[in-house]
Amino acid sequence: MSDYIVRATAANSQVRAFAAVTTETVETARKAHNTSPVATAALGRLLTAGAMMGVMMKGDKDILTLQIQASGPLEGITVTADSQGRVKGYVGNPEVIIPANDKGKLDVASAVGIGILNVIKDMGLKEPYSGQVVLQTSEIAEDLTYYFAVSEQVPSAVGLGVLMNKDNTVQQAGGFIVQVMPFAEEETIAKLEENVQKIQSVTTLLEQGHTAESLLEAVLDGFDIEFTDKVPTEFYCNCSKERVEKALISIGRKDLNEMIQEGKEVELNCHFCNTNYVFSVEELKEILRKCR
Ligand SMILES: [Zn+2]
Repeated sequence: MSDYIVRATAANSQVRAFAAVTTETVETARKAHNTSPVATAALGRLLTAGAMMGVMMKGDKDILTLQIQASGPLEGITVTADSQGRVKGYVGNPEVIIPANDKGKLDVASAVGIGILNVIKDMGLKEPYSGQVVLQTSEIAEDLTYYFAVSEQVPSAVGLGVLMNKDNTVQQAGGFIVQVMPFAEEETIAKLEENVQKIQSVTTLLEQGHTAESLLEAVLDGFDIEFTDKVPTEFYCNCSKERVEKALISIGRKDLNEMIQEGKEVELNCHFCNTNYVFSVEELKEILRKCR
């Protein structure tokens, strides 16, 4: 596994920063869901952000969910990440194909459409934390920047990019999140704003062969960067036949009985990784016996 996330601080901890290389993560998602190029780009951007926002959480069992509900042909994106760099996700319509935008690039904004971004953090408390913003550009990175500013009151710069090969596989994917701490000096904020203004798109940077470290060095040009952590990241789904079986038990005797009466095997799909789980009539009867 070559994908990883780095954590760094700069300017005497006035700035905290994350960067990720997620090429394999996004390619694994593409293969699992057989996504079109624009769907791969959109899902890849949100997976990359999710992976980084996941490791920002402190608790071992914390779970982050990023949900885009929007009117575009992509029919929304859902991404879930844990605090150990594991991330998974899917789009509503993986086959969407739309014309390139006026820059000749994959038109993620039009595929996503107008809508909202939900950020849900389950940190084991009674109520999960939840923040919601209206999508600003539907390009995802800008929408997350807006979310951080409005919902978490943390001025941030977010860059995300997915670069495709001609055969529609993922060539490179990655991104960064840079955040200004509340005690940051004017000078630091101004310098960072200047950097963000002049930086090229993440896709262009990835094209130049940047690593997560050098990506941050580009964004934080002129700052003293201290890399404090490096964690592997991957597309990982925790579903299993046992888990699906538990879900079947939870639907209750009546529905299970109906399935058995049909006399056909039942196929259940995990949305997150697109794995199908097949249960024979015999297995369904066995599950029924476990029901109270
Ligand atoms: Zn799964």
